[in-house]
Amino acid sequence: MKISVPREIKNHEYRVGLVPGSVAELTHQSHEVFVETQAGAGIGFSDEDYRAAGAKIVMTAEEAFDVAELIVKVKEPQLNECKRLRADQTLFTYLHLAADKPQAEALMASGATCIAYETVTEPQGGLPLLRPMSEVAGRISVHVGATYLHKAFGGRGVLLGGVPGVAPAKVVIIGGGVSGVNAAQMAVGLSADVTIFDINAHKLIEIDQMFHGRVKTAYSSKAALAEALKEADLVIGAVLIPGAAAPKLVSKAQLKTMKPGAVLVDIAIDQGGCFETSHPTTHQDPIFMVDGIVHYCVANMPGAVARTSTLALNNATLPFVVKMARMGISAALAADPHLKAGLNIAGGRITYQAVAEALNLPF
Ligand code: NAD
Repeated sequence: MKISVPREIKNHEYRVGLVPGSVAELTHQSHEVFVETQAGAGIGFSDEDYRAAGAKIVMTAEEAFDVAELIVKVKEPQLNECKRLRADQTLFTYLHLAADKPQAEALMASGATCIAYETVTEPQGGLPLLRPMSEVAGRISVHVGATYLHKAFGGRGVLLGGVPGVAPAKVVIIGGGVSGVNAAQMAVGLSADVTIFDINAHKLIEIDQMFHGRVKTAYSSKAALAEALKEADLVIGAVLIPGAAAPKLVSKAQLKTMKPGAVLVDIAIDQGGCFETSHPTTHQDPIFMVDGIVHYCVANMPGAVARTSTLALNNATLPFVVKMARMGISAALAADPHLKAGLNIAGGRITYQAVAEALNLPF
């Protein structure tokens, strides 16, 4: 199969659809891989690395799109990329169509087969191509939380792990799913005093067993959370209600009950945020203050560590790319219901019910 990797063109996007190691797997199986020049340059993968993996380097996005049967990207296509797609091509990338009607209509007009990373499923019921980004975001949340607790950034001037003779900082993690557990691993590693709140009793049991008493667990009632906020140095919002906006779990009024200079990191900002006072920020301007509390609400946290994020994403996407290349797209979709769950648009129509409903388009 002919597979293309265009360079990502969204502002400050350094991730890339396939790393050289993934390309080598595909070329080893006699597939042809075309990589746009400089596609991986921002994260240390040179054209020479791709050539060594068997890829052909193409000089323009036009060529990369034109030559491919399967196009592997990271971010949703921009409108000029949608215009390059044809009905005989398949696009495999994050799409997030439910909030983006112009993109959905442009992809429908192309006639291409569009498989969205975020709706691909797995037998255990999870979302395997979203998980790596939640793992990264969870882990970064503790790095940034620790940094913004520094006095110079408006924080309380508290070291997460304390030192001998000085108590560690109190970290409250709301949501004990993928990102919450990864945040807890990092916070425990730094010797902080960590409590995870969740509404799922099974999650609390799992977490209790996983951390052997090193993390406290709490049922996420309004009252229990209100008490914990008063004592917290760092609060990490890591909740998800699938398909819905994040619930607002910390109100503006509650900020006044917190210690001045405490830090809120809202990982759930991409679903609207779980703190009333959150609004999306960027890596260029990541924080703002409300009532003396530092807010970090970057909607694309994994972009900060684009190399790690790309490698983690490739670990998850490569088996699906290999399967499509080996079997052909139609046969792979027919054989694998989990890959098929990723099919969002095909033949000019929306093929994913929740997206059709969200956009008020026919299904
Ligand atoms: P997940 O489904 O693995 O975990 C979410 C957890 O929240 C579940 O355990 C659930 O029981 C719990 N929860 C739901 N309501 C709750 C409540 N009221 N109180 C306490 N817990 C509650 O989700 P995840 O993969 O960890 O993702 C979490 C959020 O992070 C999502 O919104 C996701 O889109 C987002 N995310 C953001 C970034 C970013 O860059 N900002 C990156 C990756 C993921």
